[in-house]
Amino acid sequence: MQNLYPLQIKKTNDGKLTVKWSDERVDEITLTKLRDECPCADCKGESVIFNNYIPIKSPFKAAGFYEISKIESVGNYAIQIHWKDGHNSGIYSWDILRQIGENKK
Ligand SMILES: [Zn+2]
Repeated sequence: MQNLYPLQIKKTNDGKLTVKWSDERVDEITLTKLRDECPCADCKGESVIFNNYIPIKSPFKAAGFYEISKIESVGNYAIQIHWKDGHNSGIYSWDILRQIGENKK
């Protein structure tokens, strides 16, 4: 997995993120899935020693919840996605992005 990295990441006009990988694979990830799989501690919960903190998922979705305002690269290993509802703490490493693309998450 370590040798896999995206050659191109592109937001499409129909609500998807296209990721072209170094092994020629192309993933189309819907923004809905991408947001639902946000890897940050608020969305995914955080392991606290001996306790598992599980976030309560609100059925209420703010405006812009599934819309991307900006994508930034983080080093050479991840992207940070800024969502239009203001959420931006999710860092999607290549590993996570690939797992989402392969539906392993
Ligand atoms: Zn999050």
